[in-house]
Amino acid sequence: MEVGDVVKICTKDTEYVGVVLPSIDENTVVIKMKNGYNVGILKENIEKIEIIEKGKKPEYKLPPLGIKKNPNLKNIAILSTGGTVASRVDYKTGAVHPAFTADDLIRAVPELLDIANIEGKAIMNILSENMLPSYWKKIAEAIKEEIENGADGIVITHGTDTMHYTASALSFMVDADVPIILVGAQRSSDRPSSDAALNLISGVLAATEPIKGVYVVMHGESGDTFCYLHEGVKVRKSHSSRRDAFKSINTIPVAKINPFTKEIEYLREPKKSEGTKKVKINTNLEEKVALVKIYPGISSDILKFYVDNGYKGIVLEGTGLGHAPETIFDGIKYAVDNGVVVVMTTQTIHGRVNMNVYSNGRKLQKLGVIGCEDMLPEVALVKLMYLLGNYNVEEVKKLINKNLVGEIEYRSRFDCY
Ligand code: ASP
Repeated sequence: MEVGDVVKICTKDTEYVGVVLPSIDENTVVIKMKNGYNVGILKENIEKIEIIEKGKKPEYKLPPLGIKKNPNLKNIAILSTGGTVASRVDYKTGAVHPAFTADDLIRAVPELLDIANIEGKAIMNILSENMLPSYWKKIAEAIKEEIENGADGIVITHGTDTMHYTASALSFMVDADVPIILVGAQRSSDRPSSDAALNLISGVLAATEPIKGVYVVMHGESGDTFCYLHEGVKVRKSHSSRRDAFKSINTIPVAKINPFTKEIEYLREPKKSEGTKKVKINTNLEEKVALVKIYPGISSDILKFYVDNGYKGIVLEGTGLGHAPETIFDGIKYAVDNGVVVVMTTQTIHGRVNMNVYSNGRKLQKLGVIGCEDMLPEVALVKLMYLLGNYNVEEVKKLINKNLVGEIEYRSRFDCY
């Protein structure tokens, strides 16, 4: 049995069929199964191995340096920010470290060079749990620079934990006539089970489309089948480990991308680019905005703390249709009386906020809470930062429920659950 062979391995209780991969541990055989997952089997547990098909030894080729631009292909800039998609596993400790630059990613996925002329730049190297609003500004500035230097589309590689916050922030901050695609991975690029390559290929494909706006591209299913193009203000990481962790919420994805056939099937109308490559950014943000989850018995002290510490906006993640218990009414009144904008989203994630159904919702509105009918809590947080960074309080209160970049759909979609 050699690397590349298709084998059937029988243990006492199970049979595994897959391609043999290099193993770092001499006591273990690692195979890649058809669904894309790898399995390591202790040699001592193996009862029988059957070679189904002899494989070719894999050839690893690096793309030649100084690749010439193909005038028939679009120019795509890949900006790497870190995260698993750009990480390697330290096999001694098992820990995942951000280590790849954008150039390394291109070398790891040379197929990208058939799709577009690729330029890579590492603009930061962090795990996305350490992302800061000030880094969103840095990313927006880097996007502007790349477009002004001739990029037809942008791909940003990003950790998945907070990728949807960054997608939201860029949606509000960057007004560009080109596609901006965020891509992550749930398994690091140097693992054979990595989803990085297919996500990247799909992301670059999307970046060559005649569309504009900010999107997230990730696996559509846990197997290696297709990717979805999600609108940046309508998407959320909804699973901690599955490769199809990102879901469009209260709407459907914009398109389905097949990284093998390179076909893109639009599921709804995308924002069309006019091909002008115009780009404007507005990076003013008020960072003193908090996201507070409502729970039984929550105390008014929590909101008072934010008000006393100079916060200008509070997003409540209420229960059900957008409710909060009377225990927090004093805190809400204190916030509103002090000029803090308080808005309501729902922790149910799916479905809309409607504060006119129950008396609790009506009372909250009387106290000055503004319901965000159709916005994810994360999106409301980022939008409030953006609005408070650019407008006065009265304008902010009007704009919070005005659709600016696709964050609000006025038609309810009960089929999206
Ligand atoms: N914690 C990592 C991050 O968000 C996970 C990932 O990259 O997918 O950066």
